Parts: sequence; C-alpha cells; structure tokens
Amino acid sequence: MAFESLSDKLQNVFKNLRSKGKLTESDVKTALKEVKMALLEADVSFKVVKQFIKSVQERAVGADVMNGLNPGQMVIKIVNEELVSLMGSEMKEIALKPGNEITVIMMVGLQGAGKTTTTAKLAAKLKSKGRVPLLAACDVYRPAAIQQLQINGEKVGVEVFSMGDKQKPVNIAKAAIEHAKSHNMNVVFLDTAGRLHVDEDMMNELIEIKEAVQVDQTLLVVDAMTGQDAVNVSQMFNDKIGIDGVVLTKLDGDTRGGAALSIKATCGKPILYAGMGEKLSDLEQFYPERMASRILGMGDVMTLIEKAQANLDEAKAKEMEQKLKKASFGFDDYLESMNQMKNMGGISSVLSMMPGIGGSKMKDIEGMIDESALARTEAIILSMTPKERANPDILNPSRKKRIAAGAGVDISEVNRLVKQFEQSRKMMKQLPGMMGGKMGKRGKF
Ligand code: GDP
Repeated sequence: MAFESLSDKLQNVFKNLRSKGKLTESDVKTALKEVKMALLEADVSFKVVKQFIKSVQERAVGADVMNGLNPGQMVIKIVNEELVSLMGSEMKEIALKPGNEITVIMMVGLQGAGKTTTTAKLAAKLKSKGRVPLLAACDVYRPAAIQQLQINGEKVGVEVFSMGDKQKPVNIAKAAIEHAKSHNMNVVFLDTAGRLHVDEDMMNELIEIKEAVQVDQTLLVVDAMTGQDAVNVSQMFNDKIGIDGVVLTKLDGDTRGGAALSIKATCGKPILYAGMGEKLSDLEQFYPERMASRILGMGDVMTLIEKAQANLDEAKAKEMEQKLKKASFGFDDYLESMNQMKNMGGISSVLSMMPGIGGSKMKDIEGMIDESALARTEAIILSMTPKERANPDILNPSRKKRIAAGAGVDISEVNRLVKQFEQSRKMMKQLPGMMGGKMGKRGKF
C-alpha cells in the first residue's frame, strides 16, 4: 500500500510527541525535522517540503492550544490540516456539462501510465451516474491500443468508436464527437497516444486536437510509482497543453506516495481520482482529507462506509438481519458475507482503512490472514448440497466425509468449520438476551 513508510514514520514522530505532557519549542523543532525527513524520503519535492514545514512551524508556534487538546495533539492537528491543504483541500469533480450537452474529455499521459485503463474506469463511473459515454480510440500508434480500449469498453458496457489506425487522431476525434451527437451520447473520452517520454510530436498532436475540437476537460494520467517524474510530467503537460486535473494511478502499489503530495502544490492542478488496482472498478475519487487521514494512520472510515454501501443490497441486508435475529442463517449466508467482503477489495483492503491499522501494522496483519484458508472454506461450502447449506444440522459424518472429498480437504477442516458455524449460531441466539432489558425483549440488537 502506498505511503506505508511515510505513514509509519509520521506516526512514530507523533507517538513521541504524545508521550510528552508539555512541549517545548525544541520538542516541536525536533519533531518537524523528523517530519521533514519523512516527507523527503517519501519523495515529496524539496520545495514543497520546505514550504510545508514552514507553514506548520508558523502555525504551531503561534497556535493557542485548543480546549481538550494537548500540545502534541495540536501539532498533529496542524500537520493534518496542512497535508489536506497541500493536496488541494477539497475533493474536485470532473466538470460535466448539464443535461444532454456533450462534454469532451481528452485523456493524456505517457505510455504505461494507465491511460487506457483509466479511461474505461472513468467511463464506467460516469455511466453508473446516468451519463452516456463514448470512448474514442485516438491512439493509432501503439499496436494493441485500439483493441485494448475495445476490450475494456466491452467489459464496462461502454461503446468504443474506432476508425482503425490509418486516420489522423484529430479526424477520429471529430468523427467521434459527431457520432456521439447523432446517438444521444453526452460524454466523449478521447484516448490519445502516449509516448515513453514527453516529446514534441506528442505535444503537437495534442495541441492540434485541442485546436480542432472543443475539448472541455483535459485530464492527465500519471503513474504514482514514478515519484518525482510524475510531478515533472504534470508540470510539463500543464505548461504545454494546459490540463484541468490529474488522475494518479497505481496508488495501490508500493509507491512512496510523494507524487500525491506534490502535484497540486507544484502545477496547481488537483488530483481528481486515484487508481487503486488493475480491475476496472478500482478507481477512487480523490479526497485530500481522507488521504491525509490514511497517511496519518487515522484510517479512512468514510471510504469504507461508501464501499460497503455500494456493495450493499438493502433487501438482502434486511433479510440477513432477520436471519441473524432468529439465528436461522445457513452456510449460504456465510458464503454471501464472504463474497461481500471480496467485493469490497478483500479483508486486507478493508482493514487498511480502519483507524490505527495503516503502515507496517498492515504487513503484520496481512501475514496473519491466510487467504488460502478462505478459499478452502469457500470450497467446503460449495461442496455441500443446497439442503445441507440451508440446514447444517443434517451434517452427519458420512455427509462430512463426502464434502471433504469434494473440497479436497481433510475431514477435520470440515468439522472445524461446522463447529465454528454452530458456535456463531449459538452466540446469535444468546445475543438478544445478553443485551438485556428492553432491548432484548423487543428483540432488537
Ligand atoms: P497506457 O499505456 O497509459 O494506456 O497504460 P495502460 O492503461 O495500458 O496501463 C498500463 C498497465 O498499468 C496495465 O497493466 C494496467 O493494468 C496497469 N494499471 C493501470 N492503472 C493501474 C492502477 O491503478 N493500479 C495498478 N496496480 N495497475 C494499474
């Protein structure tokens, strides 16, 4: 996960601060020196770090300690606020035209940054919000680019407009917009060609497209793993063609994260989205506040709640609640819960957003999570007949033996799972009583 090492270091600095009752100016100075080192090591640009530390220092020295906060907490509060402001303060949306007016979004970036993938991810997001997008294949140089866009478009159910690789990108862009007009579509993504490095030809081609068609938004896709390069690339693109926002990809990887902290401060343009994986659903809106929270190990409960809501089927949740109340849930429900967790990105992803579980703690936990055990549990449940899943009481030794053989596990694993399951049912039965008083009588918990 990105920011792991930065997060660890900052948390250590703050732990030391917290353990002191009263802070002297030199305590603050030492702490800020360590914050500075941590940021530099995370590949945040030197100029940005200098300005950042200056702002924190000025505020920390002049700050009145607020009610209920000790001086250490006050410093943490200031660092948090400055981190948020560094990343642009507020979440910014892509500016879309109202109603059925067409918004043309030009996607630009270097080869391999994740432009084609991100274009499909964004189109899927806008589609889910009721927009009708069209993907225009304007990268006529990279051999597989058109095909890749077509595959991705198909996966997210968005039409792809292509004229092969013999036409000029600017003509494809014009024709795509006409196509969108005549087919009642309201967002056109231009997937333009990238190069390995910023070069004249690429920039000129982008300028040509911008002059020939009305581009409403130019979004730059940069790879967070490239650190300072991502920052330089953003600056160059902004200077040459003008960009409206940045999508930072591969923040799920082991990046040091400096790019996320430097881009807004360096080129003045906000990060709109963060790519969090290769799957076409792995795109998160970029909230500076939530990102700062994750960096400081305070978790990101808001994103967690939103993910849960996006994956939650209200009717199913109600049904589950009823089953839990009556302790009448079966193995199918168990499987369903496992799938929900998977849809939210797996246990590790969910845990990493919990307060206090960032950084290296996550590594320890990841070591303890045995993903293959989960797969075996799934295999065991899938080897049961529907009747057995709904009514686990009928699981006698011969059925268990058959299930173990079906799942390719030892019978002791089946026994263990069934026992665990029975215990949770027992607990659920006792729960209303344990809550005692009126709650229990009303059957609410
Ligand atoms: P393009 O050359 O800029 O169009 O880049 P592609 O869209 O082909 O992406 C290059 C590679 O990066 C592909 O293997 C993608 O699956 C991968 N990729 C894109 N975005 C992300 C992301 O957010 N996280 C991860 N881990 N991989 C990504």
